[in-house]
Amino acid sequence: MKDLTINAATAFDLPPAFAGRHLIDGAWVDGPETFERVSPSHDVVVSRSALGGEAESEAAIAAARSAFDAGIWSRISARDRAAVLLKVADLIETNVDRIAVQETLESGKPISQARGEVGGAADLWRYAASLARTSHGDSHNSLGEDMLGVVVKEPIGVVSIITPWNFPFWILSQKLPFALAAGCTVVVKPSEMTPSSTVMMGELLIEAGLPAGVCNIVLGYGQPVGSLMSTHKDVDMVTFTGSTAVGKLITQAASGTLKKVALELGGKNPQVIMPDADLEQAADAVTFGVYFNVGQCCNSSSRIIVHEDIAEAFVARVVALSRQVRFGDPLDDSTQVGAIVTAEHNAKINSYVQDAIKAGAKVEIGGAPLSIDGLGPQFYQPTVVSNVSPDMAIAREEVFGPVLSVLTFKTLDEAITLTNDSDYGLSAGIWSNDIHACLEFSRRAHAGTVWTNTWMDGYPELAFGGVKQSGQGREIGKYGFDEFLEVKSLVMRVGRDSR
Ligand code: NAD
Repeated sequence: MKDLTINAATAFDLPPAFAGRHLIDGAWVDGPETFERVSPSHDVVVSRSALGGEAESEAAIAAARSAFDAGIWSRISARDRAAVLLKVADLIETNVDRIAVQETLESGKPISQARGEVGGAADLWRYAASLARTSHGDSHNSLGEDMLGVVVKEPIGVVSIITPWNFPFWILSQKLPFALAAGCTVVVKPSEMTPSSTVMMGELLIEAGLPAGVCNIVLGYGQPVGSLMSTHKDVDMVTFTGSTAVGKLITQAASGTLKKVALELGGKNPQVIMPDADLEQAADAVTFGVYFNVGQCCNSSSRIIVHEDIAEAFVARVVALSRQVRFGDPLDDSTQVGAIVTAEHNAKINSYVQDAIKAGAKVEIGGAPLSIDGLGPQFYQPTVVSNVSPDMAIAREEVFGPVLSVLTFKTLDEAITLTNDSDYGLSAGIWSNDIHACLEFSRRAHAGTVWTNTWMDGYPELAFGGVKQSGQGREIGKYGFDEFLEVKSLVMRVGRDSR
């Protein structure tokens, strides 16, 4: 432990516990019951939220349904919808600090990363506004002499948005502005662990002039709120980000009404390090990729597959960088690795590491939970585990912590086989100066995103999502926007003789 870089508790005046309320039909609604979130790093109650049940869920869905059917949002011009989204983007930027502090307190993530998440989300709102104005269908005037065919795009209707705890503001912004840009109305349920930044978003939506009923927020748990949002006959689509296990439950729940389901689920993302790679850059990216958001990230590069000729030197480099990673108080601006979201999850991370050790893996650095004076026991040491074989749970399952597993390969074919030997297919990466190897890997890797000589580089213009058990459908970009639209064909006999 003495060779790790630890940021001790800072002196910080914590804000009073945030009071979260539902947003239903434009009104803030308290409940008779509340639920609390205790900060994983500071052991104090940081939010107290109204607890939603069936009544609140029904009311929110009814509000979204009648707002959609009345056409107060879906039938106004795209220019007017875009104007509201652009105002939201500006408001996000003036509220970054307040939202980021609350997110850090609820999640344990470093404040610098929370600021990046919240501030960066403004760009998603601006991009969605641009799509609202440029999206269009197409026309067919060669179907026959007196025929005209027009394909139009229409909003899918009422959308349920269910989000996880790890990037609550960012993931909401990967969905909400695109659904709104398309003309949909929505009901949102944030994670019970990080509800407050979604409520803060609700405040910004009202300030920006979004009409009542267009965006409704219900706070609470998967049961009954998320479940009702997935089964209800008045909901046309569910877009969910979270665990693969809950994604499967949502798919079953939605099947009763055959509503559309879009899923962004877990990952076990490999980075392949070829012998000719720029090892300094690759080691920096691997270290960032595994410790970002305390490793609790769907895109975590939790699996590296490194050529055996350079494995020892590369691992030594990553271990040296891991030693320099500043971890500890998430409210300290210089902290890079904060607290683990819950005590149970910290124990689960440790059990993956201990099981791997029993099966013959070697801990190069870290490998245990850690208690920090003034902050408590919910930390896990930055950890690198080598000698990992592909059948170990640590190499196959989402550890969701600051833990890197190292596997080795001899040929590119073997690296691709290892990459694809997974139930998941969210993202993958390759580091090499050989364009042929990079292209071959990019085309053969089973993943929604493949990075070459970079990692976790995302752009609103591109599409994001996974294959296999990492999900279905796409978010952001033109493809993500299209998920919220239905396509309708208008077939018209327009010749004079047909009258
Ligand atoms: P989770 O699946 O436990 O919870 C996600 C949301 O689902 C929460 O709001 C929860 O209350 C709700 N929920 C729980 N049970 C439900 C049910 N039966 N019906 C409807 N809703 C229900 O996930 P989590 O722990 O919050 O987040 C971590 C997971 O999310 C990881 O697996 C991670 O990989 C994944 N994730 C994926 C992406 C992506 O874009 N692919 C991004 C971030 C996180």
